[in-house]
Amino acid sequence: MGIKVKAIVIGATDYKEKGKRITLFSLEKGKIHATLKSVKSSKAKLKFAKELFCFGDFFIEIPSMIVTNVDIENNMFELTKDIDKYYIACAILEIVNTVLHENEQNTPLFLETLRALGVIAYEDVNDKYVLIKYLLSVFAFMGYSLALSNCCICGEKFSGKRYLNLDFGEVVCLACKSANCIEISARAGTALKLLNETEYNKLFTLKLAKGSEDEALNILNINFDRRFGKKLKLL
Ligand SMILES: [Zn+2]
Repeated sequence: MGIKVKAIVIGATDYKEKGKRITLFSLEKGKIHATLKSVKSSKAKLKFAKELFCFGDFFIEIPSMIVTNVDIENNMFELTKDIDKYYIACAILEIVNTVLHENEQNTPLFLETLRALGVIAYEDVNDKYVLIKYLLSVFAFMGYSLALSNCCICGEKFSGKRYLNLDFGEVVCLACKSANCIEISARAGTALKLLNETEYNKLFTLKLAKGSEDEALNILNINFDRRFGKKLKLL
């Protein structure tokens, strides 16, 4: 018996002498693990399926979870040609690997992940913009939406500085800020709002204040650590 899933490779480790254990993010079953046997030789039929970012239809034997065939739709080869793109794309895999639970379907996150990786691979954009937008979506999909226009406690429209409450992952104004808050500067706040509102295919039109994307990423990374217990190392 077997299953077919549409999936992307988000992790790979050695398995025995010639095999690989791969982690897949699948449309149908969320995060699953599978085994590729004898794929390390250059002649192996499924050798491309062990590479990160490989996307396609995976045919998997049940219950052994051995991959018997893969119809590759896209191996995202462009991501491996540019070291900056590669690091940002790896950060996306690290994010998704951290937030996903096994065998838990998450269609919006699956589509968003493919979208973000596709933009990094094929479009001429500031890749950090893509990463920020992606992180904002991840927080929203996982139930930790960040308020970017109005204080999430009193509803006052933000102007200037605002604050991230580290206990709850909420963005609040000066009047509502409590002890365990960190400041989000006006320019980082603007960067977050604009990136959230701009579609992926329009990101190339954005020009944010220099350095604001690094500030914004830093804030999101702190929030990610607080919400999911992992500091992203690839930023
Ligand atoms: Zn407030």
